[in-house]
Amino acid sequence: MTDRFFPNVMPSFVTEDIQEEDKVTDEDSLMKLLSMPYTSLSKQFQRSGLDLKETIVMETWGLGGQVVHDFTLYSGNLGTALLLYKSYQVTGNENDLFLCLEIVKACDSASRASRDVTFICGRAGVCALGAVAAKHANDEASQSIMNVLLDVELRPDEFEDVKGTLKYMINNCFPSGNYSTSEEDRKRDVLVHWCHGAPGIALTLVKAVKVGALCPSGNYFAAALYKIEMCNAQVFGDKEFLEAAINAAEVVWNRGLLKRVGICHGISGNAYVFLSLYQLTGNIEFLYKAKAFTCFLLDRAHKLIPAGEMHGGDSPYSMFEGMGGMAYLFLDMIDPSKARFPAYEL
Ligand SMILES: [Zn+2]
Repeated sequence: MTDRFFPNVMPSFVTEDIQEEDKVTDEDSLMKLLSMPYTSLSKQFQRSGLDLKETIVMETWGLGGQVVHDFTLYSGNLGTALLLYKSYQVTGNENDLFLCLEIVKACDSASRASRDVTFICGRAGVCALGAVAAKHANDEASQSIMNVLLDVELRPDEFEDVKGTLKYMINNCFPSGNYSTSEEDRKRDVLVHWCHGAPGIALTLVKAVKVGALCPSGNYFAAALYKIEMCNAQVFGDKEFLEAAINAAEVVWNRGLLKRVGICHGISGNAYVFLSLYQLTGNIEFLYKAKAFTCFLLDRAHKLIPAGEMHGGDSPYSMFEGMGGMAYLFLDMIDPSKARFPAYEL
């Protein structure tokens, strides 16, 4: 593995071919997927996503009563619980919802002593997913937690701080359009990950644009009155942010077909950059690019990982490093208009 990413030789756009679905040979299996009508392709995403979910549940939880060694959403059992919740959303299968709750409860017990309050690696994720899943299981008591979590507001000065920081980041991106991983690391234009580089920035910029759409007059005080996530209030509506997000997405298209599968630093996470821009702009070229990254995984991951040409993740079934994230993406691609980066928006 000399390079971090596969050269992206996929066409920048392929029209879906409704008449001649079977005209392409086996060697062109990826092209066949890219030109398949979306209704057929989404069934393949669903089938593969649900099959993977079964494998991941068996590998990380088995038939129940398992001990939680790593409770986190990032690399542990809570990721399996989130995948089960996603599966429940897609199929309505309550067995998935109840198993999700069982795992969340075990994660809750295992994380009592944790002092980490973050969502992805700490107790907040356990509480939030537990509240959402319990709400669906008609556990009214837990809804109060949900309300508290949604009741966070930014003050106008905090909005201005966020906006200023984003502008600073845009003005200091690399000539390639990629972003540095930290202030101390301004010379290494290497990583194109959600955790480091253009993908994470692009997702944040898209969110910033949404905030402006709600508040076109630039009345940030009015925007601050909205609650976070309830109505996407953190929007600044700045054209500069949209252009920067599109530029960052171009970097992801060219250098983001990573030799890793996961959400944090893999192809699955990078696909969400295109999904977020598709949802914001309605431009089907972004949907195509999300589809292309997903089809690449669908077509090749199961061959590239055993061959050692692609890294399956230090925690191979996990949500953020491994196949859990890929399964989540497959399920999200069934209805891309509703896709959400896992754990950012439940
Ligand atoms: Zn990462």
